[in-house]
Amino acid sequence: MKDSIHDNGVVGAGGAGFPAAVKLRAKAEVVIVNGAECEPLLHKDKELMLHHGAEMLRGLRAAMARAGALQAVVGIKEKDQAVIQAITPQLPAGVRVFPLSDTYPAGDEFLLVYDVTGRVIPPGGLPLNVGAVVLNVETLVNIGRNRPVTHKYLTVAGAVKEPVTLRVPVGISLGEVIQAAGGATVPLYDVLMGGAMMGRLASGPEEPILKTTGGAIVLPREHGLITRYRLPWSAIYRIGKSACDQCVFCTELCPRFLLGHPIEPHLAMRALMFAPEKDRMIAGTLYCCECNLCSLFSCPETLDPKNVCAHDKVAAREKNLKWQGDPNEVRPHSMYPARRVPIRRLMQRLGLQSFRNVGPLEDRPLKPKRVVLPLEQHAGAPAAPVVRAGERVKEGQLIAAPPEGKLGANIHASISGRVSKVDGAITIEAT
Ligand code: SF4
Ligand code: SF4
Repeated sequence: MKDSIHDNGVVGAGGAGFPAAVKLRAKAEVVIVNGAECEPLLHKDKELMLHHGAEMLRGLRAAMARAGALQAVVGIKEKDQAVIQAITPQLPAGVRVFPLSDTYPAGDEFLLVYDVTGRVIPPGGLPLNVGAVVLNVETLVNIGRNRPVTHKYLTVAGAVKEPVTLRVPVGISLGEVIQAAGGATVPLYDVLMGGAMMGRLASGPEEPILKTTGGAIVLPREHGLITRYRLPWSAIYRIGKSACDQCVFCTELCPRFLLGHPIEPHLAMRALMFAPEKDRMIAGTLYCCECNLCSLFSCPETLDPKNVCAHDKVAAREKNLKWQGDPNEVRPHSMYPARRVPIRRLMQRLGLQSFRNVGPLEDRPLKPKRVVLPLEQHAGAPAAPVVRAGERVKEGQLIAAPPEGKLGANIHASISGRVSKVDGAITIEAT
């Protein structure tokens, strides 16, 4: 049967890249729109709700119909009154706005679901376990547009002349989007792809923008955040092992711990030092969402419990360790509301307050000479090419599809031109 969401290659645009058609096969009571956008300096979702709210709501109605949900909630930060006022008059029956606090990580799916519904997703579970489906703003815009996903919105911010939210063809290079933001203001810089908290260092100016790239934060190479992101595992391990004084701040502010989940990052740090009970301490790391709050905000020693948790997760999976508790007994900590971290304080701690915190939408798409479309830019199996080098393609034409019976997403040509290369990616030269 024809499935337009699958055919159009719509995937979660918030970073995970899960195929939206698969997510919407399940039945849910409520669809929650994640408009929290809690990564510092990013403005893409807010701008989309402001300027393309009607398309987002069209996508939301389609998502509700698929999931059989009679209700939907649009989570928007209370401080974004202009967005709330623009969206509210357009809301269809059964849809309401939920005002969110200006804290990090308000957009974490587990926190968002609890804030909106009062229900805690069990450790290791999904929003569906409590009757919810969560979708990102841009994912819904893409569903509402009902055409192949060829373009991507992202905020380019930090050390650039004109911070901006751009609409770009998928596969354009990072260097071109930085130029479109007026260029870097410093000669030597690095870029955090996806955000300052949950991003990663870009490989270089040739790196392509993917369907899941929500932002690019340009920072001077000597910036403290870049130093943190550059630290190798050997140093994280060695310093963590010798310098953690078990003050427990990382755990006390951990949002998933506060939600009642069995993650206690100070135990993962302790497990670096001692062998007894190591497995029990490591098992909890399975429930870390890698929000980075413990490493970049909470720890007074600037240690890196997040990367220790991320590292230990691999060991926990290999050993098939599991949390042995009762999910029905999971209750949020009494300090859950009081220990939310305000974005303003987070930005001060990250050293980002000197950058302009704006990202107005520039809706005219850029026109690159070349795009590089990786076959792996979504959850599941890499897509298999359906075009060959030398072929001419038109914008919106299918160029790669998931292998038969595998989870994955279609990829379409984001510009018209000639396919010049097909390997782990499909390169198209504009003609
Ligand atoms: S906050 Fe830092 S020093 Fe304190 S327990 Fe956690 S990792 Fe150790
Ligand atoms: S990264 Fe740190 S603060 Fe975030 S969930 Fe994991 S342990 Fe908790």
